[in-house]
Amino acid sequence: MSEIKAPKGTRDIFAPEVHKWQYLEAAIHAYYRKFLYQEIRTPIFEHSELFSRGIGSETEVVQKEMYTFRDKADRSLTLRPENTASVVRAAIENNLFEIMAPLRFYYIGPMFRYDKPQKGRYRQFQQFGIEVFADDSPQVDAEVIFAAVDFLKKVGIVQLQLDLNSVGCPQCRPAYLQLLRQAAHAEEKRLCPDCQRKIAGNPLRIFDCKQPGCADASRAFPLIGDHLCGECRDHFAAVREALSWMNVPFHLEPRLVRGLDYYTKTAFEVTSGQLGAQNALLGGGRYNSLIRELGGPDMAGIGFAAGMERIILHLERLAAPQPRILFVAYQDPQWLAHAVQLAQALREEGYPVAVDYQGRNLKKQFKKADRLAAAFTLVLAEDEVRSGTVSVKDMASQEQSKIPLKDLNAWLKKNY
Ligand code: AMP
Repeated sequence: MSEIKAPKGTRDIFAPEVHKWQYLEAAIHAYYRKFLYQEIRTPIFEHSELFSRGIGSETEVVQKEMYTFRDKADRSLTLRPENTASVVRAAIENNLFEIMAPLRFYYIGPMFRYDKPQKGRYRQFQQFGIEVFADDSPQVDAEVIFAAVDFLKKVGIVQLQLDLNSVGCPQCRPAYLQLLRQAAHAEEKRLCPDCQRKIAGNPLRIFDCKQPGCADASRAFPLIGDHLCGECRDHFAAVREALSWMNVPFHLEPRLVRGLDYYTKTAFEVTSGQLGAQNALLGGGRYNSLIRELGGPDMAGIGFAAGMERIILHLERLAAPQPRILFVAYQDPQWLAHAVQLAQALREEGYPVAVDYQGRNLKKQFKKADRLAAAFTLVLAEDEVRSGTVSVKDMASQEQSKIPLKDLNAWLKKNY
C-alpha cells in the first residue's frame, strides 16, 4: 500500500517546535487580556456566502483560494480563510453588541486558503487576531496598531516595519476611484490581464500586484492620500499623533490598500526585515461598513490578523523550554506499585514524571532516564521501601543521596 502523506500545504507540528507554539499562544492570551480583549472561538466552516459578502466576491481569496464544498444537505460551506467575517457574524447572531462590553475580541485558530505553498505560506495556517467594535476614535486605531507591534516586540521580533495608510471612506473614495480608473485605463497595455480586469471592479487592488509592469505603471497613479475628505484627513492625522504618544514609529505607505468598499480609513501592515519573500507578519485596518454589510447595526470596526507560522520562524532562537523530568526507577518489579504511587504523588506536586513499566533491570531504566534527559532519577529498592526513603541521583553530577519520603518535597523544592 502506498504511504499516506499530509496534504500539500499542511504540516505536522511536534516537539521541540510545538513548545514555541505553546509559548506563543500563552503570550497571546496574557498580552491581549491587558487591553480587555476576550477570546472568541467560531466554527472552522461557515456558509460560503459569509465570505463572499464579508471578504468580497472580487477578491483573490474568494475567487481562487477558498476550500468550498457541499455537505450532504447540499449547503455550500467553506473552510474559513480568515476570521473577521466569522467574528462579526457571531456578534450579530448572538447579539453580542447588546450583551458584551467592551466589544473587544481576540482569536487564535487555523485558516484555510488554496494558496501556492512555500516557506511561510501554507494552505492550512494559523492566525491570531483582534477586533474592536463600536469605537471610531482614532486613538483606538493607534492602540490596536500599538498592540500589534508591541506584542511582536515582546515575543522577541526585532526588525519590524509598520506601513500605514488611510484608504478613505464612502464619502471620498468614489471620486478618487474615478480618477484612478482614468489613470489605469491610460496605462492599460502595461497592466497584466488580472489588473486589466480590476480597473472596472476594484482598481485599488492594482496597487497590490507584484508584476513589474503593474508596479511600474501604478507608481504614476493618483494616490488616495491626496483625495481624502476632511473627516478622513483629520482621523488619519489623529491616528498618527496618537502613535507618536505611544512611541510607535511608522512608515507612510500611500499605496497600501485594502481593496474593498467596507474597509475605511486606517490600513496597516507589519513586515519583518528577517524574512524573505513572505515578510508580511500581520495586516489590519478599519472596516466601518462591514458590520452593516453583514446584516448588523451600523457600527465601526477595526482589527488585524497575524500569521503565526511566520512569527514562529522568528522564534528560531528562542530556546524551547526543556521540562526537567523526574524518572522513578525500581530495583525489582515487586516495587513497581510503590514506584507508580511515588510518580503520582510527584505529579500532584507539579513535576513531569516518567516510570518504565516494562520491568527491565535498573541499568536499562537508567539508560532510559538518560535518553529522556531526566534531571533526577529516584530509585526504590528493598532498603528504601522498608525505611520509607528514596535514593535520588542527580543525573548531571551523578551524586546520590538517600532522602526520607516525607522530606522529598522540600528537598526537591531546594534542588530541582
Ligand atoms: P490577511 O488575512 O491576508 O490580511 O493575512 C494576515 C497575515 O496572515 C499575513 O500577514 C500573513 O502573516 C498571514 N498569512 C496569510 N496567508 C497565509 C498563508 N497562506 N500561510 C501562512 N500565513 C499566511
